[in-house]
Amino acid sequence: MAKRDYYEVLGVAKNASEEEIKKAYRKLAMKYHPDRNPDSKAAEDSFKEAKEAYEMLSDPAKREAYDRYGHAGVDPNMGAGAGAGGFGGFGDAFGDIFGDIFGHGARTGGRSGPQVYRGADLRYNLEISLEQAAHGYDTTIRVPSWDECDTCHGSGAKPGTQPTTCPTCAGQGQVRMQQGFFSIQQTCPKCHGTGKIIPNPCSTCSGAGRIKRTKTLEVKIPAGIDDGMRIRSSGNGEPGMNGGPPGDLYVEIRIKPHPVFQRDGDDLHCEIPVSFAKAALGGEVEVPTLNGKASFTLPEGTQSGKTFRLRGKGIKGVRSGYAGDLFCHVVVETPVKLTERQKELLQEFEKLTNAGGSKHSPQSKSWRDKVKEFFE
Ligand SMILES: [Zn+2]
Ligand SMILES: [Zn+2]
Repeated sequence: MAKRDYYEVLGVAKNASEEEIKKAYRKLAMKYHPDRNPDSKAAEDSFKEAKEAYEMLSDPAKREAYDRYGHAGVDPNMGAGAGAGGFGGFGDAFGDIFGDIFGHGARTGGRSGPQVYRGADLRYNLEISLEQAAHGYDTTIRVPSWDECDTCHGSGAKPGTQPTTCPTCAGQGQVRMQQGFFSIQQTCPKCHGTGKIIPNPCSTCSGAGRIKRTKTLEVKIPAGIDDGMRIRSSGNGEPGMNGGPPGDLYVEIRIKPHPVFQRDGDDLHCEIPVSFAKAALGGEVEVPTLNGKASFTLPEGTQSGKTFRLRGKGIKGVRSGYAGDLFCHVVVETPVKLTERQKELLQEFEKLTNAGGSKHSPQSKSWRDKVKEFFE
């Protein structure tokens, strides 16, 4: 059967926005989800079709390939991941939307017999420095993985014994419960959906059929990544049940506080302490950036709190591709631990300043005016 056009499947226009596509998919997913249509093959097919269409059209790169080459341009069997360990590719076609509707471990197929479950997604919190976030960073992480148990070869039964059919559900993995008008299909409480019980569990894996190990994954963090962004590693979550697909692993990025810079999107902010004499006289100020040093000209008579914007000296955003700006906030520093000589000079300076009247201190003048206005 010829494949239907993805836009037609979702019932949206070719130029539909991401939001419209998401909304259309959510509606179809709610309507056709297998949990709501337990015995309908047609609903299951519609659900799968909608899911595939959404996965393609919600990914800008895949959508572009599809718009250009049609179904030949995209292969739904390819994961979104790229590179070593399947890393790369942002956002999740399934988890983001499904996580909040149905929770993890959504049932993905099998209308009769043991239920097939997609494995749960895993999250790994990775803390990196601002420099690593700005320039990109390759690292490895150790995550749990599950291997088939060597002793029982995955059956969960003690060698020489066999799992038996669950008597409660007769091997179906599900039982029907009557609740008011509704008949609800539930996972069998005795066998937890597997349809089998193991009278003599394997001692190595306690009947689970698999054992937990750790594996090392390479993570390529793209330059410009921001706090809270996630990198998906397809298929590296928990294994599925009864032949279901594994979940995904999400590496969630946390950026450590930086001693000099505060990040705001692609922009950076920093404080620049300037001596009181330099603020008065003006001059060149050298500032640090994440790519070496930069400088700007401080005009004569700069007040504390004045901000200077250095264009393009922020962070090149991973999504925008544009470099943000660096905002330097001037803090005029009051000199401390003065020698007698320095004090003498300042006292003399103060006399001369006072003699010159309010023209030397614009802020005091405007402040005095405001106070006067307020009390009169
Ligand atoms: Zn075992
Ligand atoms: Zn059962």
